[in-house]
Amino acid sequence: MTGKVYLIGAGPGDPGLLTRKGAEVLASAEVVVYDRLVGREILAMMPRSAELINVGKHAGNHPVPQEQISQILLDKALEGKRVVRLKGGDCFLFGRGGEELEPLFAHGVPFEVVPGVPSPIAATAYAGIPVTHRDYCSSVHFITGHKKKDGALDLDYEALIRLDGTLVFLMSIGNCAEIAEGLLSHGMDPAMPCAVVENGTRPDQRKFTAPLRDLVDCVRDNGVISPALIIVGRVCTLSERFDWFDALPLHGLKVLLTSTAGSASRLKARLDAWGADVTALPAIEPRPLPFALPALDRYALIAFSSAAGVRFFFEGLFAAGKDARALNGLRVAAVGRATAEALRGYGIAADLVPSSYSGAAMAEAILASGVKAGARVLLARPRKALPELPEKLRAAGVEAEELFIYETAPLPMERLDPAPFAWVCFTSPSCVERFAAACKEGGKEIPAGLKALCIGESTAGAARAAGLETFVSAEATLDGMAETLLRLNTERLER
Ligand code: SAH
Repeated sequence: MTGKVYLIGAGPGDPGLLTRKGAEVLASAEVVVYDRLVGREILAMMPRSAELINVGKHAGNHPVPQEQISQILLDKALEGKRVVRLKGGDCFLFGRGGEELEPLFAHGVPFEVVPGVPSPIAATAYAGIPVTHRDYCSSVHFITGHKKKDGALDLDYEALIRLDGTLVFLMSIGNCAEIAEGLLSHGMDPAMPCAVVENGTRPDQRKFTAPLRDLVDCVRDNGVISPALIIVGRVCTLSERFDWFDALPLHGLKVLLTSTAGSASRLKARLDAWGADVTALPAIEPRPLPFALPALDRYALIAFSSAAGVRFFFEGLFAAGKDARALNGLRVAAVGRATAEALRGYGIAADLVPSSYSGAAMAEAILASGVKAGARVLLARPRKALPELPEKLRAAGVEAEELFIYETAPLPMERLDPAPFAWVCFTSPSCVERFAAACKEGGKEIPAGLKALCIGESTAGAARAAGLETFVSAEATLDGMAETLLRLNTERLER
């Protein structure tokens, strides 16, 4: 049976600008054909099971020619596959979407089009430029500055000037001088406000403004590279006043997260919202260990140290033919909100949730809850967890038994290059150790100015030992780390 092709516009980069429909269709793709303008984080959303085909294009240098892209779409659909063609921005706006549909139509292959947010709408908005404004203009025009094969730039400058609207040029950085000269020589006011937006909506977005007469110098002096837009029009004067994106408190701050995927995503969400440029590259991964389920009715309390621990414990419980009712009569303690949330997912509301990640805080909370000397508690935790919690409980006469249900395995961190980062965040000493080892393996020095933000003192000890300039989170939680990073950086920038 013939498959189907979905042409999806991925938007200009910010993963939040991928439409819900686009994300849903992408999640069920069997083949994804994508190119260079699709944002890094959207690429990370491509299903792992799908066949991924990179047809990345560069101006003047087309690694995969257009006809071949169309052929790939056709072939895969004829194989019966559910094919997603993922394009930057919107798929029809200078995106050759129409050309890619022609062969499908000719062969009777079914297709759907999921529009995307176009860069001349989104990158301008992120640069604080409303493309129309009643006080300044009554139209906006999207223009390609790409030259045809014969080298001609086919623009009717007189008509463009007469329209008196906002002009947004795409694919035009290389031909900026010619465009500026064309507009000036046909009578546009040399003082006409212009703006350039590079990598719009991405954490590394850059924006520059200049009058038309200085536009070329501005592009050259700042080394503007593709993808970028050139905006010509009086609305550009608003970009300073409406500069909301550049004004985000951590705008562009490059942060590396090394914790397990689960905790990284929580921290990343907080930092993303403040405009940081966050890369998550987990250094460790929890892996379940086989364990024999003890007789649970012997214990007064069971304590979980992480969401992964909760998951592995319940998997073991189910495998033993039991369920949440096996915890009947036990008090349940969880370190941190994420662990408590994981328990809720299995129908258990934790009785104790110390918000700090330290073993001492957990021991104190357990003792304060009325667990007396002689009582038995079960600590469901990773192998090689710090001994603080059982030691403190035993010192109080409590019989603390450890049940090792998982271990944290090091990950290769193959793509690790610490050089671009200003900060690296660590949530455990094992993350620090893995990070330092991975730098060494890759022949990369830990950069002198790289700062480490650590969740607590034991992690900070490991970071200092690795030679990093180290800071400790004010509160030993992921939210506390986010707040600390914000405070340290906003104070430093003296905004
Ligand atoms: N279909 C795309 C445009 C494809 S043409 C869309 O709807 O946005 C490629 C041009 O789009 C680039 O040369 C650049 O001018 C512009 N562009 C795409 N993504 C951009 C971004 N994130 N920031 C600035 N310009 C971008």
